[in-house]
Formats: sequence, structure tokens, C-alpha cells
Amino acid sequence: MEPTFDEAEARALYEYMMSGGWVTEFVKTREFETEIANFVGAKHAMAVNNGTVALCASLLAVGVGPGDEVIVPDLTMIASANCATLIGARPVLVDVEPQNLCLNTALLKGHLSEKTKAVIHVSFNGRTNDLTELKRFCNLHKLFLIEDAAQSLGSYFRNAHLGTIGDLGTFSFSALKIITTGQGGIVVTQSDNLATRLRKIKDFGRLKGGEDIHDSLGYNFKFTDIQAVLGLEQMKKLESRIRRKKEIYALYRSGLQDIEAIEWVPTDLSQTTPWFIDIFVDDPNDLLTYLRQHHIGTRLIYPPIHTQKAYQVVGNFPVAERFAQRGLWLPSSIKLTDGDISYICDAIAGYFKKK
Ligand SMILES: *Cc1c(COP(=O)(O)O)cnc(C)c1O
Repeated sequence: MEPTFDEAEARALYEYMMSGGWVTEFVKTREFETEIANFVGAKHAMAVNNGTVALCASLLAVGVGPGDEVIVPDLTMIASANCATLIGARPVLVDVEPQNLCLNTALLKGHLSEKTKAVIHVSFNGRTNDLTELKRFCNLHKLFLIEDAAQSLGSYFRNAHLGTIGDLGTFSFSALKIITTGQGGIVVTQSDNLATRLRKIKDFGRLKGGEDIHDSLGYNFKFTDIQAVLGLEQMKKLESRIRRKKEIYALYRSGLQDIEAIEWVPTDLSQTTPWFIDIFVDDPNDLLTYLRQHHIGTRLIYPPIHTQKAYQVVGNFPVAERFAQRGLWLPSSIKLTDGDISYICDAIAGYFKKK
């Protein structure tokens, strides 16, 4: 994966700088927020520094604070848990479902306490499980549902874009995401009330810009118009990137279909835009080393959060452990040609033939 841009971004940034813009967030940021809101079908979108801060701000907006507990899947990028820790809350890790690598709703009940305030659902690699079921569970137990949809721009649950089903949904525009602003994140919601809370949280708790009256605690989680200019250009390329990502996934699937040693997570390309091409094998480290010798870069998937030194939680997470031990991300850049992919598939076939 790599950030991908061309002259269009360079030209737009040059024009913006020459136009005497405010540099910090202003008109371009509002335009970018509107574009994202329209694309995902949310009423509101609030741009912030990055995806991690988008999650922190979301937890703060629903009133999570020190001592509270937040349910988080064990298999995800570490920021999904760190956001709770950073604001003084405690992430409570729960195992994932093997069919989609998302939070196992059936296990949630056993992890609730009086301190549980929110659930963070991560649509891992654009896939999801049944979010209506999870939402029903959250409503029943009076928990806020936050969707970490950082990997899911272009992915849906039934007719709803991921991120728009929970109370709040977050996206990231870090360098490797499907569109990037270098760093950057956004929170979407259908709720006027939560949108107002979020706008205050990201701007020092101000009642309105240009006045220094603060009736609540807030921080500086603001975006910049430079990033927004970049983001607006990247948005023009999103539809074609979504198409290409799906094509790339399908090319790998058919190129590797005869190799029985490769396990795939079910992926419905009418709903999911895979972010990374993920395969599951007995010894991903060995395959990684072999492919490196053939000049093919791959990456192991995330270790389960409970095994990370920063957390070290004791518990029962057999599914997260199994998939983390077996997972390998194949080259997934939208710049890959069909020829590149067939070269990679041939190399993988060569590896398994030798076994
Ligand atoms: C990328 C990512 C984040 C963090 O976003 P940043 O913008 O890097 O802070 C959070 N959660 C998931 C699932 C991600 O993939």
C-alpha cells in the first residue's frame, strides 16, 4: 500500500496557497466534510486530526470518561483500544467472529458491567457482521455504539454505508487508507445533538468561533484546509479506487483458487471494498520470507491486542489468536497492474508447490 496522488493534488494545493486561504480549517474543510457526509449518507461530518482522535472525540461526545469501560474487539489496529485508554477509560477486549473478523455479538453479554458505556465495532478490512443485531443489543443495554470504520470507506451493510449505523462512525485518512490527507480523520453522525457536541469538543468547547466563552471542556482536534484541499482531490478518485480494489481482490482470488492451503475470509464484493488483500496460511512468516526473496512485500496482520505488551490481558480469544497467527496481507496498492498480480500469484503457487 502507498499513498497515491498525481498532478491534480499538486495543482489544487498550489492554487489554494496562491489564493490566500486560512491554511487552518475553514471553507475547504466544510466542503470536504460535506463531500464525505454525502458519500456515506450521513447528516453530519466533523473532520479531526486523525482516526485515533476521531475515536477519542466520539467517546468524549457520548460522555465516556475516566473509570468507564468500552467494549473493543481483540483483533484490530491498536488505536481502536488506545482511544479508550487515552481518555482514562478501560477497553474491555472481546473475541471476534471467524466469518468476518468482527466483534462477536453473542459474547458481549458476558463482558458487561455497570461501568460499560459504549461498544466500538470495527469493520475489519471493510467486512461486517449483522449490525442491526449489535444495535439492538446496544439499545437494550443502553450502550452507545461507535463504528470504527477506518478501513471501510466504500463498504456497506445492506444499504447503509458503514459508519452510519452506530450513534457515531469514524474514518481515517492516514497515508495507507483508500484516500489520504497525510494524517486526518472524520466523525459522522445522524444526530444533531452529537454533532454539536463533537464540534465543541474539537474546538476548545467554544460556543462559537471568534469568541472565548467555554461552557464545556473541549480540545483542539481541528483539521486544516491544506488537508481538505488534498482530500477533495482524493475524493474525485474514490469511486475508481473502489472499483479497482474489488477487481484486485477478485484477481487474487481467482489466481490463487487452486491452492487449498490458503484460507479466505468470506468477502461479498457487492458490499465490501477490501482495503488489504488478506489470506490465512499455516506459516505466514515463512511465506513472507519467501516472497521477499522474490521482491514481493507483504505484511503480517495485527497481533491480538491482548497479547501486546501495552495491554497484556489474560482471557479467552481463540478466534483472534487463530487468525492473527495465520494472517498475511498481500500487496494491495491500487497501482498494481494485472501483470503484477499474476506475478505475485505465480510466486505464491511456487512456494506451495515446493512444500
Ligand atoms: C487506521 C486505523 C485507525 C487509526 O487511524 P489514524 O488516522 O492512523 O489515527 C483506527 N482504527 C482502525 C481500524 C484503523 O485501520
